[in-house]
Amino acid sequence: MGDISVLIIEDNLLNMKLVRSLLEIANYKVLEASDAEDGIQLLGQYRPDLILMDIQLPGMDGLSATRHIKKDPALQDIPIIALTSYAMHGDEERALKAGCDGYISKPIDTKTFLASVVEYIPHNPDEE
Ligand code: MN
Repeated sequence: MGDISVLIIEDNLLNMKLVRSLLEIANYKVLEASDAEDGIQLLGQYRPDLILMDIQLPGMDGLSATRHIKKDPALQDIPIIALTSYAMHGDEERALKAGCDGYISKPIDTKTFLASVVEYIPHNPDEE
């Protein structure tokens, strides 16, 4: 499980710290970007197994970034989970429409977060 990597694109430092801690406890390798532009640039060098995408970001928002990534044949297979705001009504639907594979709403529930993430990690049949 130590080889599974997750890219977090999130501009809120507290959320970033929380999500990174939860993933590292589960032994995931974590890549971080605080805006969509940096995240997309990272995807030119690394191919994570999963992307956690904040919706509200400075500059390009998470929905535009998702559309961009899902248009790229080299990247479109990477699952994207939107980090949606409970307060922002309709975020979930917009996220799915933009091409996200699922969503986790913020504030992050530390008890259920990892189980939600695991659902979207591409399954390796060799590990059955
Ligand atoms: Mn944000």
